[in-house]
Amino acid sequence: MGMQELDNVSDSVVVIGAGLAGLTAAATAAREKKPVTVVEAHIGGGRARTDERDGYRFNQGPHALYRSGRGWRILRGLKVAHRGHQPPLRGARITHRGELVHLPGAAMGSLLAKLFSASPAKWTGRCAEEWVQSLGGAPEVAELARMVIRVVTYVADHEHMPADLAISQAKLGLRGGVSYLDGGWSTLVDGLASAASSAGAAIRIHESAIGIERCTDGWEVTLAGGEVLSAGAVVVAAGGPDAARRLLPVEPAWPELGPPVTAACLDLGLQRCHPPVVFGLDEPLYLSRHSPPGDLAPEGKAMVHVMRYGARDARLDRTELRTYARLAGIGDDHIVEERFLAGMVVTHLLPGVEHGLAGRPAVEVPGAPGIYLAGDWVGTSGWLADAAMASGQRAGLLAARAPSHRPLRPTLA
Ligand SMILES: Cc1cc2nc3c(=O)[nH]c(=O)nc-3n(C[C@H](O)[C@H](O)[C@H](O)COP(=O)(O)OP(=O)(O)OC[C@H]3O[C@@H](n4cnc5c(N)ncnc54)[C@H](O)[C@@H]3O)c2cc1C
Repeated sequence: MGMQELDNVSDSVVVIGAGLAGLTAAATAAREKKPVTVVEAHIGGGRARTDERDGYRFNQGPHALYRSGRGWRILRGLKVAHRGHQPPLRGARITHRGELVHLPGAAMGSLLAKLFSASPAKWTGRCAEEWVQSLGGAPEVAELARMVIRVVTYVADHEHMPADLAISQAKLGLRGGVSYLDGGWSTLVDGLASAASSAGAAIRIHESAIGIERCTDGWEVTLAGGEVLSAGAVVVAAGGPDAARRLLPVEPAWPELGPPVTAACLDLGLQRCHPPVVFGLDEPLYLSRHSPPGDLAPEGKAMVHVMRYGARDARLDRTELRTYARLAGIGDDHIVEERFLAGMVVTHLLPGVEHGLAGRPAVEVPGAPGIYLAGDWVGTSGWLADAAMASGQRAGLLAARAPSHRPLRPTLA
């Protein structure tokens, strides 16, 4: 017996899930010259899919890309092009006590001044409602602050929302602005998929992973059809923590995780009606015209997303959203296409007030070297899709650079 040598082991990367997180990981690892295979249970895109119906392009509820967010920079780095426009906020209204009214300009000015001078770090460990209560001034200032936090974070439960996250996300959204994407969010999915494929990744749709096991060479990913894929590293980007837990070969030592952030969405294709943007001041409701401008509706028609922050009973939510649409001037005869999405998960984890984003599970999985997590509930960076792409990028880099976990095998001298 003499020197030891390494087995000749595959250094390939398997990515489970072709949403924004998985595709970002795949494109990142493939550009590091690793052989990458993505397996996707459905058609890909996940919650960033866009569905076309009779010329109307519906995202999975209202979606806006943060122009100063991590995702925007990651997409630019991967050369994923997208076009879009700012929300049509001219003529925007709010609703108060069931009435459509104008935005109280002076109170809004006062809120913005306070927001832009607030330091998120000073509010670490406290809840968003505490920050709202600290604002003082006219009573509308607090209501406007809650409304702004809802619109930029999708979180309506301000007592369980970390204040530092609320403040930094509000600054990100209001300073940098957001973009409603022409063609819908599927342009991001297609762009990321093509960035991954052109770097050599293989994307296999309608292939569900059912488990990951350790083997002498690294890891084996078993697919529902029985095929087994060997990998030096695996990225689990299958949506949320429950999906990841089902796949992982070890029980993850996560701290107690918070609840998901949910919404109920009514997506409407309209004719002869171009309603203004309307936000609920005293109710967690939203209505925005995502086209025109943009090309999410046929020429001369309009596409509107109506939403309730925090989903409840589906029938109750649908009725409430229809009533809200009526309040914004949308009659039954204006509606050409209608789709209701009950109980949507906007992001899989509202982190606790105490730790904020630092309380989310890490990309690395303790006890499973070479397995990495990605999704909007993972890592310390970003919120919503920004978190999905930030953790996807980190998981892709770590997977590409993962040391092999192969055993040392004795050789004959
Ligand atoms: C109503 C709504 C509004 C939103 N608005 C915004 C917004 O304005 N701005 C913003 O930044 N973000 C927004 N988001 C959030 C954003 O859509 C998500 O954060 C992002 O799309 C999540 O991407 P993901 O890849 O982590 O997860 P997902 O999109 O859930 O993708 C997971 C993928 O894994 C696949 N999969 C699952 N299990 C398996 C398996 N066993 N084997 C193989 N494949 C598997 C699934 O089919 C899916 O394609 C919104 C979300 C919703 C629902």
